Amino acid sequence: MPRKRLQALIFGPQGSGKSTQGHLLSDWFGVPLTSSGDMIREEIEKGSTLGHMVEEYVASGVLAPDEVVNAIILKRLKEVSAERGFVLDGYPRNVEQAESLDRIMKIHLAIQLKMRDGEAVRRLQGRRQCSKCRSIFHVDELSPAQQKRCSLCGCRLIKREDDEEETIRRRLASYHFMTEPMSAYYRERGVLLMVNAEQSIKQLFEEIVRKIRKLGFVV
Ligand SMILES: [Zn+2]
Repeated sequence: MPRKRLQALIFGPQGSGKSTQGHLLSDWFGVPLTSSGDMIREEIEKGSTLGHMVEEYVASGVLAPDEVVNAIILKRLKEVSAERGFVLDGYPRNVEQAESLDRIMKIHLAIQLKMRDGEAVRRLQGRRQCSKCRSIFHVDELSPAQQKRCSLCGCRLIKREDDEEETIRRRLASYHFMTEPMSAYYRERGVLLMVNAEQSIKQLFEEIVRKIRKLGFVV
């Protein structure tokens, strides 16, 4: 079986544990996890022309246009992926971006985390964040006494605005409309790996690793 470096991406709705799985996979396979946000920040720090362009958009509170974001991500990806492979999180977000990516980079695997909206809402609504150290907890894992104060630093736990049901539902709708069509796109190309994300972090991770190993990637 061919041993090859993993060039993968992971996508799924908010609350599906996408970035947690991304981190676990990148550790396990020894490849960098690259999120679009990180790549954009790095480009700004480098002070490149593209970085400056984004900086100006950020400063004026406007979202940078797709072409600029695409250009940065494709450039960074070429740099990091040359020999090490990658797990990409947060990009592409739509079929158009997936097509741009395909033009410069072979994607071996597109991991799609499936979760029903109701479950995503349940998970996100139960999140509490420490107002000071920013640690995130879930009410299901806290006793009533623990739900008020952070167990790490003792400060107050709050529910973030992002985790209110209305906001969550809006983001889920946008995910279904914009991002989920990538499922059919990658399936047609024979690289889709769909997994049920409604299981524990550990079970989900083990299932993904098992499936990836079957495909013959270097661990
Ligand atoms: Zn805290």
